[in-house]
Amino acid sequence: MQNFIIIAIDGPAASGKSSVAKYLADKLGYLYVDTGAMYRAITYYALENGIVDDIDALIKAARNINLTLGYENGTTRVFIDGEEVTDKIRTPEVNAKVSDVSKIKEVREELVKIQRKFGHNNNLIVEGRDTTTVVFPNATLKIFLTADVKERARRRYLEFKEKGVDLSLEEVEKSIKNRDRIDSGRDVSPLTKAEDAFELDTTDLTIEQEINQIVEKVKEISDKKLNKQPS
Ligand code: C5P
Repeated sequence: MQNFIIIAIDGPAASGKSSVAKYLADKLGYLYVDTGAMYRAITYYALENGIVDDIDALIKAARNINLTLGYENGTTRVFIDGEEVTDKIRTPEVNAKVSDVSKIKEVREELVKIQRKFGHNNNLIVEGRDTTTVVFPNATLKIFLTADVKERARRRYLEFKEKGVDLSLEEVEKSIKNRDRIDSGRDVSPLTKAEDAFELDTTDLTIEQEINQIVEKVKEISDKKLNKQPS
């Protein structure tokens, strides 16, 4: 029996998940869990240790890694063995490998265990690729965000530019398409819309418009819950 409110948001890269998830977490005071950051952290660790193409070593790493997530001032802070890797997990190198690492069933099983634990004691905003379908199939509200790939590439390109990462728009689009293909086509927990998810195409929406639509949905759900409670 699930006692806490869980709002799960899935969608492809740069579809707007993080912006809306952070906004809701701040507004509602819920714990925010960015599951992509966990897959990125394992991938970063594997690249650093030269094991990114070694499936057995990756599984062992996923079982033993000492991963800590924190959320502060709009940023998910990530630590491996106490060392901060927050920026290091969001590089083009990690982007190029993270979807291959995320295909491995045993790696996913380890991370899903950790993700579910967050929901045992907290109201939660959780985002990723399988949070509405696999991690929290009974989530209170499920949201599936999409956007045209060109628009998603434009958003990610601007983010990279702001960080001083020198990549062309074409390169960013290619990397996103590659991740989309692997994330949606894999055998284990592929990115897919849950039947009962609220789907929102954010291509032509500003962040504010996107947030407003989702806040409306959250209100609907809360009102329903309140109406169900005995007086
Ligand atoms: O959300 P973000 O783009 O940071 O996710 C990075 C990658 O991690 C995705 O492209 C996907 O391969 C993987 N991922 C996943 N399942 C999740 C979250 C992320 O497979 N729940």
